[in-house]
Amino acid sequence: MNSLESMKGIGPKTISLLNRLNIYTIEDMVNYYPYRFEILEKSNVRNSNQDDKVILDGIIESNPMIYFFNKKLNKMSFQFNEGSTILSVTIFNRAFLKTHLQVGTKITVIGKYDKKHNTVVASEIRLGLLPPVPVIEPIYHTTNGISSSQLHKWIVSSLEYIDTKEYIPAYLCERYKLLDKKSSVLQIHNPKSKVSLNQALNYLKYEELFLFMLKMNYLKKNRKWEVGISRKIAKEDLKKFIDTLPFSLTEDQINCINTILEEMNSNHVMKRLIQGDVGSGKTIVAVVALYMNYISGYQGAFMAPTEILAVQHYENLIKLYKDTPIKIELLTGKMKPKERQTVLRKLANKETDIVIGTHSLFSEDVIYDSLGLVITDEQHRFGVAQRTKLKEKGHQADILYLSATPIPRTYAITLYGDMDVSSIHTKPKGRKEVITELCEEKDIKIVLDKIHREIKEGHQVYIIATQIEESEDDNLENVEKLKEKFERALGKVCNIGMLHGKMKPNEKEEVMSSFENNEIQILISTTVIEVGIDVPNATMIVIFDSYRFGLSQLHQLRGRVGRGDAQSYCILISDREVERLKVMTTTTDGFKISEEDFRLRGSGDLFGTRQSGDMRFHLADIKRDFSILLRAKEDSMEVLNSKEYDNGKYFLLREMLEKSMNLD
Ligand code: ADP
Ligand code: MG
Repeated sequence: MNSLESMKGIGPKTISLLNRLNIYTIEDMVNYYPYRFEILEKSNVRNSNQDDKVILDGIIESNPMIYFFNKKLNKMSFQFNEGSTILSVTIFNRAFLKTHLQVGTKITVIGKYDKKHNTVVASEIRLGLLPPVPVIEPIYHTTNGISSSQLHKWIVSSLEYIDTKEYIPAYLCERYKLLDKKSSVLQIHNPKSKVSLNQALNYLKYEELFLFMLKMNYLKKNRKWEVGISRKIAKEDLKKFIDTLPFSLTEDQINCINTILEEMNSNHVMKRLIQGDVGSGKTIVAVVALYMNYISGYQGAFMAPTEILAVQHYENLIKLYKDTPIKIELLTGKMKPKERQTVLRKLANKETDIVIGTHSLFSEDVIYDSLGLVITDEQHRFGVAQRTKLKEKGHQADILYLSATPIPRTYAITLYGDMDVSSIHTKPKGRKEVITELCEEKDIKIVLDKIHREIKEGHQVYIIATQIEESEDDNLENVEKLKEKFERALGKVCNIGMLHGKMKPNEKEEVMSSFENNEIQILISTTVIEVGIDVPNATMIVIFDSYRFGLSQLHQLRGRVGRGDAQSYCILISDREVERLKVMTTTTDGFKISEEDFRLRGSGDLFGTRQSGDMRFHLADIKRDFSILLRAKEDSMEVLNSKEYDNGKYFLLREMLEKSMNLD
């Protein structure tokens, strides 16, 4: 009785829409929480400031006037009496409402207060006055074809069918005076008051973090029992190899390598995360670890997030291992079946020592003779489930994760609870820091001159916008419009290309490779360039509407330049949130920046979209709710270690854990 079909009033068409939101069962529906709440409570205009969001109700005082700018764009204005004062109200693209809005009509206006002009720029107008007591409306993320309020209706009707699972042991609910699951779910979708909404949130956030930490602790606990490969790698042999490297290692690199050596020589399975900024030199640590693994007689696999990066690593490793007998192969999705078969054969009979590739390294048909170490680059953290797969291939292989999204240690050791964490803070010597400047939009001429100067020097430039094309109600820059503007300004002196997520994969690849080959000098792009592009000749990145990004994300974007010998620049264009953005001009230390991001915005986009699924929280925010996270960590460990758990009292939890470990 858990299928969506069994619900009244839901047909195949609705189901396919819901599927797009990853809702497949009634349980999914019930667990589809709102991402924010609209509290419909009348604002006090007198106490409101410029640009505050306001909700007002009252009477229309003048017949609405409409101006049509073009087919798509219109603006409606009228005078509005909200009881204590008369304001003008402006709303865009709602000309169709006009017939309902006459002098004397009672309405509710939601929008932004422009105190200077005594105007409200409305985002929404509703017929009728506000209810006498404040109403809390849950707002959901949706997809084209479903409105938030429609989704809300379906979710409310799904609540009749629920059979909630009470995962949290009763004694913990008592300890923290939490509601139960069922009441919490009912409240979050239909909040009666702020107080009851908060109670519901308290339960659900705790549950979310508890279950997450339970999985982490479960993995950690089981890991203690896993016997790994114990190796006998001699430090002298390692030193000989390190001496052949083209540079001397930084202190943090050496510390990392020593820790890895100790772990590989012990009989525990290694599972270590190495975090450090882009360019801090994580790859060389991986290279040394793969060497240790090789001299102790095992094969290694190095997994990159994209094919481009896999090829880069491959070429790099060939050079670094040139004085060793190590045999390296590349395994990519693009290979012809015959080539692939050859590589697979060599892996299976150990003619190959190290293989580099993407996810395909763990496809079904890849069989290793003796896999001893797996390295995954750029936080391609295996989901909890993928570990099982890995185990099948690798007996007791050690794992090393490389992450270029450094986060403060206190958060790292909790969030990556089932791993050990090393950080690389120091940067290789002689690196030129990227110079970062903040600019207002009116200074665009100066920016253009700077871009022109880089082009004249023979360098290349990235331009970043948040939008792909014109959007109606926003004055954000977009890739298409910028392309036109830059064609006009600099089209004569260089070639300009664009890149965004709506392009076909082969179109994208073509543009990327033209940029890499310097056939394009200016690349206008959305954040799709964030991962994996490496063009040392690019020396400038200009980011429009920078305030729309988190600091960590800006830092990642900035990492696209400063990869060659020339001085590089990052120009942040923004008229807003200048204070927040200033941090970018004073430091290039990713750890500091993420600390600041945490402080200012919570964990929001810290992990970006690139973090694997099992670390995305729906309700909890790691920063704001850090104290809950710590409690959840202790509590879940307590539960796992309890007699009751062993005796099967918490069978729901056990079932959940076992299921999540075996899922694909
Ligand atoms: P990331 O941490 O982003 O993976 P890489 O490992 O790609 O960084 O290193 C960035 C660049 O710095 C590479 O060209 C690498 O050869 C170089 N590098 C790494 N370690 C050192 C070092 N100790 N001294 C000088 N250059 C180094
Ligand atoms: Mg790297």
